[in-house]
Amino acid sequence: MRINKKMKNKVSKIGVLTSGGDSPGMNAAIRAVVRTGLYHGLEVFGIMKGYQGMIENDIVKMESRSVANIIQRGGTILKSARCKEFLEYEGRKKAYNHLKEKGIDGLVVIGGDGSFRGADTFSKEFDIPCIGLAGTIDKDINGTDFTIGFDTAVNTAIEAIDKIRDTMDAHDRVFIIEVMGRDAGYIALHSGIATGAETILIPERKTNIDSIVNSLLEKERRKKLVNLIVVAEGHESGGANKIQEALSAKLPNAETRVCILGHIQRGGSPTCIDRVIASRMGFHAVECLITGRYNVFVGIQNNRMNYIPLHDAVKEKGKISEEWLRIVKILAS
Ligand code: ADP
Repeated sequence: MRINKKMKNKVSKIGVLTSGGDSPGMNAAIRAVVRTGLYHGLEVFGIMKGYQGMIENDIVKMESRSVANIIQRGGTILKSARCKEFLEYEGRKKAYNHLKEKGIDGLVVIGGDGSFRGADTFSKEFDIPCIGLAGTIDKDINGTDFTIGFDTAVNTAIEAIDKIRDTMDAHDRVFIIEVMGRDAGYIALHSGIATGAETILIPERKTNIDSIVNSLLEKERRKKLVNLIVVAEGHESGGANKIQEALSAKLPNAETRVCILGHIQRGGSPTCIDRVIASRMGFHAVECLITGRYNVFVGIQNNRMNYIPLHDAVKEKGKISEEWLRIVKILAS
């Protein structure tokens, strides 16, 4: 185990916060951090609204009962926010002073890569060890097979798409469904495969509209009239409405419909997988603080814990493999 000897090697009061975009399972992670911290005799504080709460001194003492009955709830009891002031040294200094007043000497930050960058800078400036937990529905962080919230988001998308498929089938329509994913296509890829989509459009791949048109015409010849296109919001086309415009221009007789799933994908009760990985990651985050494995985020790879330095936390870019794309192509024929 790599121990950072430069930093104070014993934390006694820790803070936990959720930052950036919320994701289902964050509550399960908070619960795990609080209860593991208390088990080890630490004092645990909940910091409200991410880094904003550190700056505004909105910090509450957590007890075991504070996290009762939350494991099944979406959102985050600590609330989440984006905080411009934390981007500046002055803001971070204010935040540090509030932690110091309370004696908080370790932090667990549940959020995405942006939140991890903030934690990394903060910890370097003020010598407060920080541990990250990847809470994002996009599953686009390098070094972990799971992020808290992805499984729930994708299952929510599947449930909605299945319902839309019923009506598509009744009317022989082309349905274009837009799912979340500004930079990463995992939600589109997984929900598209799981619902038998004919075409899946993701930010990581360029897709020429003519190839979609040709594929629809070819399917029409084979009397396959029901066609489901799942597009990630960050696809280069500009999303479902733009795809519909382009298709309507080239196939004026096709009945196309658009559905943008939007924020329903962020909410709802977390799935078993999200609750379990959030609990496991939260538990290990506190163990990291106790054993001096500082300034890492906790990932899971090949079913083992993987600890990645916060400064290496980067969005996974363009990593969707050819294997997935072949599967999509062959299964949707
Ligand atoms: P996410 O964590 O979901 O990727 P953001 O990128 O919006 O979300 O980051 C969340 C917050 O983390 C920001 O509002 C800001 O307060 C903080 N943050 C992000 N990047 C930095 C940075 N380079 N330095 C300091 N704080 C940062």
